[in-house]
Order: sequence, then structure tokens, then C-alpha cells
Amino acid sequence: MQVQRIELPTPLPIGMVNAYYVEQGATRVLVDCGPRYKPAQDALLKELKSLGTSPDELNGLVLTHGHVDHAGLAHFFQTVGVPIFAHPQTENWLQPGGVWDEYRRDFFHVLYLKMGVPESEIQRTEKEFFLLEKLTDRSVVNVSLIDGQAFPLLPELQVVYVPGHAQAAIALWDEQAGDFIVGDQLLPHTSSNAFIEPLPGAEFGRHARRSKSLLQYRENLQFLRSLPLKRVYPGHGEIFENPALLIERRLKEQEHRRNQLLQRLAARPQTAFELAIDYFPRHRHEIALIISEVLGYLDWMKELGEVVTEERGGLIHWRQVECA
Ligand SMILES: [Zn+2]
Repeated sequence: MQVQRIELPTPLPIGMVNAYYVEQGATRVLVDCGPRYKPAQDALLKELKSLGTSPDELNGLVLTHGHVDHAGLAHFFQTVGVPIFAHPQTENWLQPGGVWDEYRRDFFHVLYLKMGVPESEIQRTEKEFFLLEKLTDRSVVNVSLIDGQAFPLLPELQVVYVPGHAQAAIALWDEQAGDFIVGDQLLPHTSSNAFIEPLPGAEFGRHARRSKSLLQYRENLQFLRSLPLKRVYPGHGEIFENPALLIERRLKEQEHRRNQLLQRLAARPQTAFELAIDYFPRHRHEIALIISEVLGYLDWMKELGEVVTEERGGLIHWRQVECA
């Protein structure tokens, strides 16, 4: 099986994103496709051409998850007849301006208020959310990928669910070769954000329960560490080997960050917003990112019994539990 990395530009702070072209005999598959962004589309078409193929010759497009930098061009491939393979709930992310976007918007508006984010900051964040929608277009998942099953087009690849960075996220594992196409679950240069998401199933987003994404992410890293992985094909950055070392480092970095955040709660109880802007002063305006990050750590501390929550005037405060 031949796997070719294709690097594509994005207009987002993350910079470049990877797509992978996988060829085995007559089967041609693309894994992720970049954002709906002209320079990305041009680069991808040029690269496919140099690999001796074209979009309409692909047997399938796999999406590791639904974030715009990975899935924005899915609509383009779907219109030329390429079936889309993904986690069934990835479809929510392929419907900009649809029901799921409204659900998320409602969820985050109420969540941010409870976390102490000022209304003006919330409005700015919502505007940015709208801009992101422009980097994708409407498409549907044609074939749902199920955890533990063989990937229908290339049965030597196994589908593995990897919730954490996104709830609906899959990876493809070639057990024989030890190769792992992992999406954003494990990145060589930066730690992945474990984004908070509303869980589906409520009538309105504001009533939705939220994911404990960092806890899931850590559990998943520990699971990946137990697999005999040799080579990892990440969603951003270069292909790398020996992921066990990197996983170990990420887990340690997270423990370090949890301790730093916990120390900041020693002086007084704080809201997630207060803690986030204190800890990430340079990212003060990236509310979605820093609230998500801090909440993940607060969930973890709460699970360990290090903090408790208190509600005051509609705001949630986290308080450190004093040692006996
Ligand atoms: Zn992502």
C-alpha cells in the first residue's frame, strides 16, 4: 500500500494541513481533503495530477473528522461522484448553517455565560464561528465507518474511533505494517486541543450535556500507546515514527499543565474565563480555544477530587479542595 502525504494551505492559524493519497492496486483513496479555500483546492488538484490521478478516479474520500481544515472540500469531491466515508456524526459538521450549527451556537452561548465570558467577547466569538462556516460546503456521509471494522475499500486498514480532539473522529490502522493515519489525535509539533462539544440528543443546544474531551483524549492516548504503532500519519506536520515516546511526552505535559492551573486556584476560586485569561494572556481573544482547554483541565481536576464547583449569581466558580 502506497501512502502519499499532500500538504495543503489553510487560511487558519494552524497553517498547513495534510491530506493522504492511498493507493493499493486499482483502489485509490483520499484521506481528508483540506478546507474550501481556492489555494488548497488548486494545490490538491495539482498534487493528485502529479500522482497520476484525478478526483473523479478516486474510489472514496475518508474524513478523519469534520473540522473545516480537513473536510471543507468534501462537497467538491461529492459532486464529482466520490463517496464520503466517515464517522456517522461527522455529517453534522458537513452542514454549515444547518441544525447542528444552531445547536452548537445555542450551547456555547449559554456555556460561555456560565463560565463568566463577557457578552461582547461572546459576540465576537460567534462572528468568528460564522466565518469558519465559509470554509466548508454542504455534503453528506455516504458510508458510515464503524469502530473495529475493516475499512470497506482497503480491508487491511482497520477503523478505530479516536474521540478527544473531536467527538466524531476516526483513524485508520494498518496492523501488519504498524501504520496509523490518525487525523489530529496525535500531532508531532503541537499538542492537539481536546475541543469541548455539546453531546447530541437534547432538544436545544443550551440543554445539551457537554463532552469531557480532555479525559477522553487522554484515555485515547493511553489506548494508542498500547498498540504496536510504528509510523504515524498526522493531520498536520511530518510523518513520524516511534509514537510511544511522543505520547508519553504529551501525557506528561498535560500533568504539568494541570498542576500549574491548580496552583492558580489556590489563592481563590475562579471562573473558567478568569483562569483562562490569566493562564493564556497572549491568547486572550481566542475564547473558544482557551475556554475549551481550561474546562478540560477543570474536568480532570474535578474527577481527581482536587476541585469542586460552586454556582454564584449564575456563574460557575472552581475552588481548590483543601488538603486534610
Ligand atoms: Zn481538527
